[in-house]
Amino acid sequence: MHPFLSPEFHVRWSTLVPEAVEPDITHALEQAKRNIEAICAQDPAAANYESTFLALEKATDELGRGWGRLNHLDSVCDSPAQREALNKMLPAVTDFYSSIALNDRLWAMIKTVGESAEMAALDPVGKRFVEETLFDFRSSGADLPADRKQRVAAVAAELSKITKEYSEHVLDSTNAWELVITDEAKLAGLPESAKAGAAENARAKGHENAWRFTLQFPSMFPIMQHLHDDSIRRQVWEASSKVGAVGEFDNTALVWQILELRQEKAAILGHGHFADLTLERRMAKTGRSALKFIEGIHARIHPVFLAEYRQLAQYKAARSGQPVSDLEPWEVAYWSEKQRQENYDFDEEALRPYFSVDGVMAGMFEIASRLFGITIRELDSIYIEPGSSSTIQNPESKIETWHPECKFYEIHDSKTAAHLGSFYADWHPRESKRGGAWMNSLHTGALGEPHLGLIIGNMSPPVNGKPALLTHREVETIFHEFGHLLHGLLSEVSVKSLAGTNVPWDFVELPSQIMENFCWDRESLDLFARHFETEEPIPEDLFAKMIAAKNYLSASVFMRQLALAKLDLELHIRLSDFLGKDLDAVDREVLAGYLAPLKTPSPSRTRNFNHLFSDPTGYAAGYYSYKWAEVLDADAFSRFQAEGVLNSETGRSFREHVLSKGNSVPPDELYRSFMGRDPDQEPLLVRAGLAGAGAGAA
Ligand SMILES: [Zn+2]
Repeated sequence: MHPFLSPEFHVRWSTLVPEAVEPDITHALEQAKRNIEAICAQDPAAANYESTFLALEKATDELGRGWGRLNHLDSVCDSPAQREALNKMLPAVTDFYSSIALNDRLWAMIKTVGESAEMAALDPVGKRFVEETLFDFRSSGADLPADRKQRVAAVAAELSKITKEYSEHVLDSTNAWELVITDEAKLAGLPESAKAGAAENARAKGHENAWRFTLQFPSMFPIMQHLHDDSIRRQVWEASSKVGAVGEFDNTALVWQILELRQEKAAILGHGHFADLTLERRMAKTGRSALKFIEGIHARIHPVFLAEYRQLAQYKAARSGQPVSDLEPWEVAYWSEKQRQENYDFDEEALRPYFSVDGVMAGMFEIASRLFGITIRELDSIYIEPGSSSTIQNPESKIETWHPECKFYEIHDSKTAAHLGSFYADWHPRESKRGGAWMNSLHTGALGEPHLGLIIGNMSPPVNGKPALLTHREVETIFHEFGHLLHGLLSEVSVKSLAGTNVPWDFVELPSQIMENFCWDRESLDLFARHFETEEPIPEDLFAKMIAAKNYLSASVFMRQLALAKLDLELHIRLSDFLGKDLDAVDREVLAGYLAPLKTPSPSRTRNFNHLFSDPTGYAAGYYSYKWAEVLDADAFSRFQAEGVLNSETGRSFREHVLSKGNSVPPDELYRSFMGRDPDQEPLLVRAGLAGAGAGAA
């Protein structure tokens, strides 16, 4: 028996033990190789769409299932034995997946069928599947002569190696720094929670009566935001700007190597630059159009951005009694926070009692039910210790979860009662769980069959016998992941690899980000934000403060994202203009007009920019996607605002045109079918309070 590969819909988590990893994954790998060999070995004259394209998709079904379950467990229930078992299988699995596109016999078979007359008779989804598959092969180098193909493979291998080195430098130099403070007076200004965390951290490292800080964001950011001592903030800023930038951890040479290898790969594959190669099948299509998008928003908000900094400098001067001058980089967060508190008198902690995790989930389900015509209910589930001694585990065949805190739900169509999908939700942190929040798919059902997915987070846990009470940002995150989940579970696409969230990168955040809008709307908030003791909705004055503080320094927040996107695109579009120059000078040249007017310039971000350089592709040439998807979600939400935020017809339309379609239709067409037109930037600027900016403004 191979528990990791078992086809049961309700996964028997307790049977997925580390000892099963090697036999199961080895078995699945052999099976997948046999399946692929069978495709290659068939009589070309008899080969058709089903025996090639669909067979290729099915070839890795079992492996995908087992490997997916294992990697999921690795991210939520890490253990030494499991990690060791995974790492042992990792090279073989990676090799196998990367060998598919470079298999000459397979490519010959796929190409022959893909270019045959038979294809004209396929339905539109089949045609798109063929197109996407041919594209994937070609963009991996399948069509190149042998020596070029080898070079593409060598570049890929080299990129995997040096991008890993890059990220290790970032991690190691982050961890190499610490600040231990023994004089409590120096901590003036720091909130109690941050002090307690630093004291705890010091104790764990053997320091008594001390406070230890690191360059991890949750440790350093309270210092930058709250600590009165300017010299300590400066020390932390200097340390953080040296991450990946000095001595044995210096990433400068790696940055250039990575960029050059990407450029080489793009050139071999017939593209002018890496951005065009990467964006060809995304909404933006070309590097230039992504750049134009970023520059367009920049032009609109630049005057407000400068005004925000001028104003902040004046505020600091007034409060400190010094003459007005540009701020230092280590002063920005500190004076911003001071001004925010003074202007809005808003304490985010005051919202927590209104956001119990169960209340938020129940209200979110209510909203989704009304909008999308679905019902969601929790099912009884059980946690069984993996490998526990009983030979007949789970005799009643209850639905198992991987942890006692994890819950299980089913989604049905409210009209037809069809079972659309099921999902697990696991919301609180533990040591064996990776940080952050995410959605994933465990099984994509065939047309008419249910899908299986999961949503995971690291939200504030329950304390002192109270239910878990969340911050507003955490509530947004739950809505966000739930949006991804609906995209997966409401999918109705006949080809699995085109289903659900398998869409281009600059479209995938639309279903998730649009859900966050409901966390700012009074009518929908009242469905889920209720005081956990009194059931009262959020008081009007607290709601008003929350809304008023929402767009504080909006243009500066925007500009940070725009600057990173601009740097990313410029480096991947016109690398040859920069080769041989000093990295910091390149930053300043590219980002003129995108950086805050500060006294001390910051060193180049490229030396510690994991999004761009810690993976062969990752977010490279794709960082603009964040803003791109914000344009889509704000614009699409404007239809909800116009027709009623909880209007079920609008919701049904979104389900029909976006949530159910996956990648079966190009995303720009999906967008047009929902909105009746192309995306409009204006609603995003309106939402951010920046619509008055730009052309007209001085
Ligand atoms: Zn997301």
